[in-house]
Amino acid sequence: MAFFAKLKESLKGVRERWSGGISKLFSAKTFDAEFWDSLEDQLIAGDTGLDFAEETVEFLKDEAKRRGLKTPAELKNIFTEKITGELNAVAGMGKSFDLSKAPLVLLMIGVNGSGKTTSAGKLATMYKVQGKKVIMAAADTFRAAAVDQLKIWGERSGVRVIAQGQGSDPAAVAFDAWKAAESSRADVVIVDTAGRLHDKHNLMEELKKIHRILLREAGAERLETVLVLDAVLGQNSVAQAETFNNIIPVSSIILTKYDNTAKGGVVISIARKLRVPVRYIGLGEGAEDLNNFDPSEFADALMETERNS
Ligand code: GDP
Ligand code: MG
Repeated sequence: MAFFAKLKESLKGVRERWSGGISKLFSAKTFDAEFWDSLEDQLIAGDTGLDFAEETVEFLKDEAKRRGLKTPAELKNIFTEKITGELNAVAGMGKSFDLSKAPLVLLMIGVNGSGKTTSAGKLATMYKVQGKKVIMAAADTFRAAAVDQLKIWGERSGVRVIAQGQGSDPAAVAFDAWKAAESSRADVVIVDTAGRLHDKHNLMEELKKIHRILLREAGAERLETVLVLDAVLGQNSVAQAETFNNIIPVSSIILTKYDNTAKGGVVISIARKLRVPVRYIGLGEGAEDLNNFDPSEFADALMETERNS
């Protein structure tokens, strides 16, 4: 319940900027062309993707006819079920990482500024609170400040950070962290990486090397490649995901800055295009602002109209 309240609070922005418009549409008196056009427009504006918007409007039109419905209000549940179904079709959607085969390696990748380091810190905090043994690896060795930023998260959460100096080989840092995790029987190793190098080619080569070494050491069942995406970027984040996925197979997504986006539908677009589960969403900059992404709570929270304002 606390989570639902918090999610609703955090989604307030999304609701005001995007879904509020959608839920208002459903109070229209009849199914006229304006209703259908506005619904499609709102879905596109929210970055659910063009295919989804068109498909959903066609689907709802058919359902309204088939069921002999008179008003859009009667379609609300069918609409939220469509969204939930779409999201739940991807295995692992909203589920926590599986720590049963420890140590589990979470390799955090994504472009600069997407929220990798922050999400690494939030995950470390969460696992620490759960009583897990956690190690972090400062494998963004491109800037000294990046190592310091992770160390601060380590101090705050009481989690050990494996680091070498600026400019050191990130794959070596990741390797050290894995060895430390193995020998200390840690539950989880969180590997922070760089999002920007001299050029994109270098970055991708470096990520491939880190991935190769971790895969060799930990094995596929203990390695999660976690793509961190900034929700504010909407469709651009989908394009980013495709680029990364072509280099190393992405197995999970964390969608950050969901508290700041006007395009909350991007999560639907990601689910459909990438078929990779969004496990967590970032709802702020603080250590606690990370939540499992629950499709039904999401759909309900989106359709909830502002009653007390
Ligand atoms: P990195 O370059 O991928 O490591 O990105 P950082 O973790 O350094 O984050 C970049 C900025 O985004 C920082 O100012 C973070 O505080 C902020 N940030 C990260 N996640 C979230 C989030 O979920 N919500 C908000 N509002 N800000 C976030
Ligand atoms: Mg970083």
